[in-house]
Amino acid sequence: MKVAVLKEGAGETRVAAIPETVKKFAGLGATVAVEKGAGEGATISDAEYEGAGAATGSRADVLKDADIILCVSGPDASTLSGAKSGALLVGALDPAKRSEAIADYAKAGLEALAMEWMPRITRAQSMDILSSQSNLAGYKAVVDAASTYGRAFPMMMTAAGTVSPAKVFVMGVGVAGLQAIATAKRLGAQVSATDVRSATKEQIQSLGAKPIFVEGVAGIEGEGQGGYASETSPEYQAAQAELVSGHIAKQDIVITTALIPGRPAPRLISDAQLATMRPGSVIVDLAAEAGGNVEGCVAGETVVRHGVAIVGAVQLARTLAADSSALFARNLANFLTAFWDKEKSEVVLPDDDEIVTGIRLTRGGAVVHERLKTAQ
Ligand code: NAD
Repeated sequence: MKVAVLKEGAGETRVAAIPETVKKFAGLGATVAVEKGAGEGATISDAEYEGAGAATGSRADVLKDADIILCVSGPDASTLSGAKSGALLVGALDPAKRSEAIADYAKAGLEALAMEWMPRITRAQSMDILSSQSNLAGYKAVVDAASTYGRAFPMMMTAAGTVSPAKVFVMGVGVAGLQAIATAKRLGAQVSATDVRSATKEQIQSLGAKPIFVEGVAGIEGEGQGGYASETSPEYQAAQAELVSGHIAKQDIVITTALIPGRPAPRLISDAQLATMRPGSVIVDLAAEAGGNVEGCVAGETVVRHGVAIVGAVQLARTLAADSSALFARNLANFLTAFWDKEKSEVVLPDDDEIVTGIRLTRGGAVVHERLKTAQ
C-alpha cells in the first residue's frame, strides 16, 4: 500500500500529512511518498518527512503506483495524471462548489472521498476536519479582533487609572464559537454569546460567559439534523433581531460564526444595528464565505462602516498552518486507520458503512454520492 502526500496549490499553506502520521502509516505497513516542498507552508522540511520514513520526490514520483492520495484542498484532476485507476483521493474536496472537478475525478478513475462530509456521529469525531479547523478559526478570529481593536481586552488597574475590559459578543456557538468564547475569556474580556440551539446555553455558561437567548417564542428550536442548525421561524427571527439590537450597541467586539448547512449564512446584524455600535468596535465574520452574517461584510477584506471594522474572515485555519496541518493530518490518519484491514494490509471501505456513504463521491468511473447525483 503506497500513500502519496501532495504539495498544495497556491494559497493553501497546510499539508495533509505530518511526520507523526507518516510514522503511523509506516507502522501499518504502508510506504509513504511526500511531494518535495509539501510541508513548506507548515514549516516541515523534506528532511523531517524523510526522517519519519517517507520518500520525497516529484509529483509524478509520488503519484506512481499510489493507492491513496492525500491532499488538503482538492486539486484539479489534470494535475493528477499518472495516478492509477481506483486510487483513493482523500481531502477537503469541496463537493458543494466543485461538482465539475468531482466529475473529472470520476473520469480519471479516482475514488474521491470528501472529508468535510464526514457524518456527525461519535465514531467519526476524531476524523472531523470541519471541527478541527473551526476550532483554530474560532481562536484566530478573537486574536485578529484583538489586534484590530485599538484598545485592550482585559481590565487593567494602573496608577494612571483603570482600563475597562472589552465586551465581546459571540453569535453562533458551534465549534468555532465555543473556542472564540474561551479565547476571549482568556484574554480577560467580558463575554456573552447566543445561538439558536438551546443546548448551547449550558455550554456558554460552563465557559463563564453570559447566554443571550430569545425566550418564549413559538418555533424557536433551531436544532436540525446531526446537531446542525435549521432555519428559524419569522417570529423567531424578529425576536432575535430585537434582542440583538438591544445588546449589540453595548459591545466592542462581535464574532459571528452562524452557518446553516446548504443555505446562505443567516443575516444576524443589519446595517442599522451596526450604526448603533461605538466607532472603533470590531466585528469578525467567520461566515463571510457563505455570504456573511453581517450586512456589508466582504469576504477576504476588512471594510469600515459607521466607524466599525467588519473583518470578512476567510480560511483562518490557513494562518495557523503548523497546527491546522497537524490536526488535519491526524483526522486523515484516524480515518484511514479505522478502515485499515490488518490481514490484507490495505484500506477497506464497506459499502454499507455510514461514514463511507457520507464521504464517498466517486467510484468505478462514476459520481456515486446521492447529494451529487440529485444535483446533476
Ligand atoms: P456550524 O458551523 O454549522 O454553525 C455554527 C453555529 O451557528 C451553530 O452552533 C449553529 O447552531 C449556529 N447558528 C445557526 N444559525 C444561527 C442563528 N440564526 N443565530 C445564532 N446562531 C446560529 O456548527 P458546528 O460548529 O459545525 O457545530 C454544530 C454542532 O455539531 C455542535 O454542537 C458540535 O459540537 C456538533 N458537532 C458534532 C460532531 C460529531 O459528533 N462528530 C462533529 C462536529 C460538530
